[in-house]
Amino acid sequence: MQPYDIIIVGAGGGGMYAAMEALQTNPKLKIAVVSKVYPTRSHTSAAQGGVNAALANRHKDDTIDLHIFDTIKGSDYLADQDAATILCEMAPYVVRELENLGAPFSRLEDGTIAQRPFGGAQKYRCCYCADRTGHTILTTLFEQCLRQGVHFLSEYYLLSLEHDGQKAQGVVVMNMQTGKIEALPARSVILATGGYAKMYWQKSSNAAGSTGDGIAAALRAGLAVEDMEFVQFHPTGLRKSGLLISEGARGEGGYLVNNKGERFMKTYAPEKMELGPRDLVSRSIEIEINEGRGFDSDAGQYMHLDLRHLGADLILERLPQIRMLAIDFEGVDPIKEPIPIRPTAHYSMGGIDANNDGATAIQGIYAVGECSCISVHGANRLGGNSLLDILVFGKLAGRHAAQLAPSLNPGAISTSAVEKSLKEIEGYSHHDRTERYGELRDELGKTLGANAGIYRTKKKLEKGVEDIMAIKERFKNVRVNDSSAVFNTNLFQVLELKNMIALAETVARGALAREESRGSHSREDFPVRDDEKWHKHSIFHMNEKGDITLSTKPVTMGKYPLQARTY
Ligand SMILES: Cc1cc2nc3c(=O)[nH]c(=O)nc-3n(C[C@H](O)[C@H](O)[C@H](O)COP(=O)(O)OP(=O)(O)OC[C@H]3O[C@@H](n4cnc5c(N)ncnc54)[C@H](O)[C@@H]3O)c2cc1C
Repeated sequence: MQPYDIIIVGAGGGGMYAAMEALQTNPKLKIAVVSKVYPTRSHTSAAQGGVNAALANRHKDDTIDLHIFDTIKGSDYLADQDAATILCEMAPYVVRELENLGAPFSRLEDGTIAQRPFGGAQKYRCCYCADRTGHTILTTLFEQCLRQGVHFLSEYYLLSLEHDGQKAQGVVVMNMQTGKIEALPARSVILATGGYAKMYWQKSSNAAGSTGDGIAAALRAGLAVEDMEFVQFHPTGLRKSGLLISEGARGEGGYLVNNKGERFMKTYAPEKMELGPRDLVSRSIEIEINEGRGFDSDAGQYMHLDLRHLGADLILERLPQIRMLAIDFEGVDPIKEPIPIRPTAHYSMGGIDANNDGATAIQGIYAVGECSCISVHGANRLGGNSLLDILVFGKLAGRHAAQLAPSLNPGAISTSAVEKSLKEIEGYSHHDRTERYGELRDELGKTLGANAGIYRTKKKLEKGVEDIMAIKERFKNVRVNDSSAVFNTNLFQVLELKNMIALAETVARGALAREESRGSHSREDFPVRDDEKWHKHSIFHMNEKGDITLSTKPVTMGKYPLQARTY
């Protein structure tokens, strides 16, 4: 088979922007986008609140510098400042490019793109399409990719990433419709497979498919992954399902209220109130609940998000989707009643270690979007900066890969790579196997929630690691009961679980090692940020036996010195 010039794994915003840019850079290239779900079902479509860019449409004094500073402060000074600078400098360009491609942004009276306030930002900077921003961006990009002739391999599952130690060779995938395993040789591979917060299972805002597959494939292929211990908990997930109620709801003026009827954020962020950064607001909710000021229910303790004072007109115009989510999943109409919420695992700051072009240590292999750690979000991402991240670095990686690919010779993917996957998959249906997928998945989610959640201690994390290692051992005996070759969802769930277990181990081990509190990582036993010992990135590798090893690398600083982080 003739190699592809570029294979992009992932059809979310990151993957599709990369595909579009790569084809624009060199229209002669043969490019394919591989995705385990139909492209428009990628998690990007669930993004609600918006994308940040210092357009200064609402606040005329907003600047790119302020955006850079907010991003670095939000990251608790762990973001690489050169990368954060690129992110914010390119923001106005990519948002306007999207607008020109047809993304229907909400408008101000003067016809310019509407902007709303978002957590941790000094100015109104978040550009939005009502509360369906991700959906509109994703469909716009899909249309453009189809128009330009990007080839989509929808419902193909990535099994392994292949390279010869120096350069990319391609990927091994399974055609989910037929069960056939195929080697797809490529000069260049861009991983854009999204995040891993679904490992928290019932306590996650993520799509079922956000299981970190690309990051786990990179780990197994010997690549470095970075800062995995930093998992963002979004303050406002629905009480029962963990589904997201966008920060846009607080951006538009929603209040967080405890069982005493108090807007409790005045205790924790007197200036920014509900629009403090996510790590701070989530911790505040936890404290209120732990101190007995939460509401009780069978689904656990929760808080109120009150939008009633915003009025029906505003809610229907700017927050229609979250209203429907509250009605469908909690039976509560936000026009008439407060929404029951609690923090929910939402975003993976960690991911595949990549440079400012999205390039990894292996020539021709790139990582962009939520599966990458470039690192622009450091220890805590600001709302509206992830859609931005996938667009900016999707674009840069697509361009870089398109320029480099023609000079690379991929060689062949060895038949043993395909045979290895085949053997593994056949093994899962062996009748001696007794462990059930559902049990292991639930136990993984529970131990992560209990032991590697918002507040962490040495004792809890040690228990977390112990539990994860036990689950990893039991996984060796997991059985796929469905023997069908056609859409064997049981098999894909098991493969996803394998990936989540590998990444859960990095989360818990990284959190145990990091004896400080920074951004989303709050250690009750080390409550203070320790710049002397821990102002550095965590780096994880997997050795041939499957064990995780841990090292560190320095943070790239720039013109913003370390400061205390208050709001
Ligand atoms: C509910 C919700 C709301 C959000 N709201 C906002 C917001 O308002 N603003 C903001 O900035 N950010 C927001 N975020 C974060 C942001 O949407 C995501 O970080 C971002 O969209 C991720 O995009 P991506 O391109 O990296 O990956 P995704 O959109 O997650 O796409 C991943 C792709 O990889 C493919 N894939 C994965 N594994 C495999 C495999 N094994 N084989 C083949 N294909 C595979 C999938 O099929 C999919 O196409 C939100 C996130 C959530 C969950």
